[in-house]
Amino acid sequence: MYILGKFCYYPSVAYGLPVSSAPSLKSNETKHIEADDYHKMMSEPNTVIIDVRNRYETEIGHFQPPRGGAEFVDPKVRNSHELPKWLGLPETQDMLKGKKVMMYCTGGIRCERFSALMSQLKQDNPEFETEGEFMLRGGIERYVRTFPEGGYWKGKNFLFDKRQEQIPERKPSEETEKEVESRCCVCKRIWGLYRGQFKCSVQDCQVPVIVCPDCRSEIETGQKVPELQCPLCEEGFRLRDLHTPALKPAEKRKAASAPAGVAERAVKRRAKHQGKAPSQRLFVGSMPLAVDATMVRDALGKGVEIVQWIHDKTTGFWYGSSFVKMATLRDAERVVEAAGSLRIGKRKLRINFAPVPDGESWPPPGFEQVERPPVPV
Ligand SMILES: [Zn+2]
Ligand SMILES: [Zn+2]
Repeated sequence: MYILGKFCYYPSVAYGLPVSSAPSLKSNETKHIEADDYHKMMSEPNTVIIDVRNRYETEIGHFQPPRGGAEFVDPKVRNSHELPKWLGLPETQDMLKGKKVMMYCTGGIRCERFSALMSQLKQDNPEFETEGEFMLRGGIERYVRTFPEGGYWKGKNFLFDKRQEQIPERKPSEETEKEVESRCCVCKRIWGLYRGQFKCSVQDCQVPVIVCPDCRSEIETGQKVPELQCPLCEEGFRLRDLHTPALKPAEKRKAASAPAGVAERAVKRRAKHQGKAPSQRLFVGSMPLAVDATMVRDALGKGVEIVQWIHDKTTGFWYGSSFVKMATLRDAERVVEAAGSLRIGKRKLRINFAPVPDGESWPPPGFEQVERPPVPV
């Protein structure tokens, strides 16, 4: 995937939480809804629709449900790490309680993680109950292709690849332009394109900002040296300082909620199909601690291009998991199909597809293949 250099903020799907308490995709009960049903659901009362993308994406385009229908909710996050903070707020939970909770993102992957986070917070707080969670299968991208006249989509769909934005194919572009509400952060005229890789100059913000062509050329020729501020900084809005809700560590939750092995197997079976679109990137876990990239290559067979050891974010140590890039999708599928029988030494490997999330660049810039993972001493 082409990434816009320094312009890019990776919506990290694990929210930077320690592995032990990161939301588990297994406990996710969210329903995946096709674009046309999702469209209809937007007219239903007692419903909210959450844009789980970053604010600068929402800025240039978002769903606008019809009057009397779903209530649009914008968490106003600068990056995905702020979502748990937002969802942990009592006022957020009050807003969602007792409602049908719809959610959407660019391609669907960020909703997987968000809904997992939600079911976890619901488990941890019995008073936080909803009428169910519903995510848009295939995300905005597919909705806009399903409704080429736009449907309830307004404005542009921010994309992290070189297209930069997607607009409904059969909607006259003047109409899309009329829907734009975002402004140039310098002269404040209505403008809906991110060009020139400008960022908010507030130190701990740095999100992309919109600069119109006139202001851009004045900046580039040195006629103007403005302080660039994103709309969130301008209004003084920040979630960053809020605490991240304390999620129960995964083992405790499992012990409390899955008394029988049967339930666990059912959960595993479901997890196998949950949001795991075939991808060249694989998750490979349960490796022995004494391992190297050559052993991984030998175990998985032809086509291993990259082995990235996944470090625990808090301790920096490695506990047996990696991402592996296969040369082709066919190679990746072959490995996943053989998953039950692949081993390193005596360890049976845990293997699944691991699509690279929307907007994330993988392997990360500057990645270098290291032969061995660091192991705790
Ligand atoms: Zn301007
Ligand atoms: Zn800012």
